[in-house]
Amino acid sequence: MNDHPAKQDPLAALALETRAVRAGIERTQFGEHAEPVFLTSSFVFESAAQAAARFSGEEEGFIYSRFSNPTVRTFQDRLASLEGAEACLATASGMSAILAVVMALLEGGDHVVCSASVFGATAQLLNMFGRYGVQTTYVPLGDVGAWEAAVRPGVTRLFYLETPSNPLTEIADLEAISAVARRHGVRLVVDNCFSTPVLQRPLAQGADVVVHSATKYIDGQGRVLGGAVLGSAAFIDGAVLPVLRTAGPALSPFNAWVLLKGLETLPVRMEKQCANALAVARWLEAQPGVERVFYPGLESHPQHALARRQQSAGGAIIAFVVKGDDDASARAAAWRVIDRARVLSITGNLGDVKTTITHPASTTHHRIGPEARRAAGVTEGLLRLAVGLESPEDICADLARGLTC
Ligand SMILES: *Cc1c(COP(=O)(O)O)cnc(C)c1O
Repeated sequence: MNDHPAKQDPLAALALETRAVRAGIERTQFGEHAEPVFLTSSFVFESAAQAAARFSGEEEGFIYSRFSNPTVRTFQDRLASLEGAEACLATASGMSAILAVVMALLEGGDHVVCSASVFGATAQLLNMFGRYGVQTTYVPLGDVGAWEAAVRPGVTRLFYLETPSNPLTEIADLEAISAVARRHGVRLVVDNCFSTPVLQRPLAQGADVVVHSATKYIDGQGRVLGGAVLGSAAFIDGAVLPVLRTAGPALSPFNAWVLLKGLETLPVRMEKQCANALAVARWLEAQPGVERVFYPGLESHPQHALARRQQSAGGAIIAFVVKGDDDASARAAAWRVIDRARVLSITGNLGDVKTTITHPASTTHHRIGPEARRAAGVTEGLLRLAVGLESPEDICADLARGLTC
């Protein structure tokens, strides 16, 4: 099974910033400086015997880009280096990475404990697996006791969470939850999309598997879809690779190249976007029209101390609640902030260098219904900002247009 044995990261001793631009490079005979794009679906062999050796796994090498591709491999090796993972496999989207993990780890009769505040499509995917006999229990992200209480001994196989959560930026205590998982022989899977390896490396904090939607911060400029699964070589090569090469959600080599270039600037983008977010969050907290700001980098965040311990910065996502006397006036006030903005982009996406603003109750969280929204804290006055690289003064001025009236 193990046809891509774990390689030691030759740059492991170097800083993250260095690895972000250098890891995974394998130069061809032409000595190119920038990473080449191998836009080819298949690879040729020198002889029938070599073809046979490749197919049997006797000889290492490329066969077909659904299985592996040099540009995709460079992206995988670089991301593995940043996450401190033994192995990485890239996928066509974040959702196909999550699908691969679910297919690799679960069978009919198994049980999953999942954070109640995960990406909507992730919960839909887990619920879809109900059809195949997989049951899921949703628990509050921050309640470690609830994770433990939800375990069905011998049946629960997987804990699944995102931290910070979307949109309220709640933090999971990774060490505490991974200790519960270990005690019960359950694997902990962490979606590290919001923090990226620049802010937090869940594998070093007890997680078994990390998944990414590379579509967000890893690309960082809103161009392509992509995803990745990271973990031990035994798990990735033994369990995830057979699923991916058979099911086929392969990352396009071109998209892999775009994402590879995204990784090069990820540390500087994250650092600046987090600094901008902190400045905007502090400004929002001082506005009379704002009832509450959720941002892990603020001292007012209920889990500020945990966030400081676990992440190197607060991230670039802010949620805030505008004042309103009732649901209708709160929604009107929130929509006014969006509609008066001239610079911010009105879009559900996040992780871009362009700041985006979203009204979760009427968009990303519309489909879950009013009761589930209330349970998730997604009120009518709530707005989500994904802060980009514009000047924080311009972002605040743009928000002020709709807040002051
Ligand atoms: C967007 C997103 C996903 C899904 O990723 P796609 O690339 O859109 O398939 C999964 N998890 C989180 C946290 C996301 O924000």
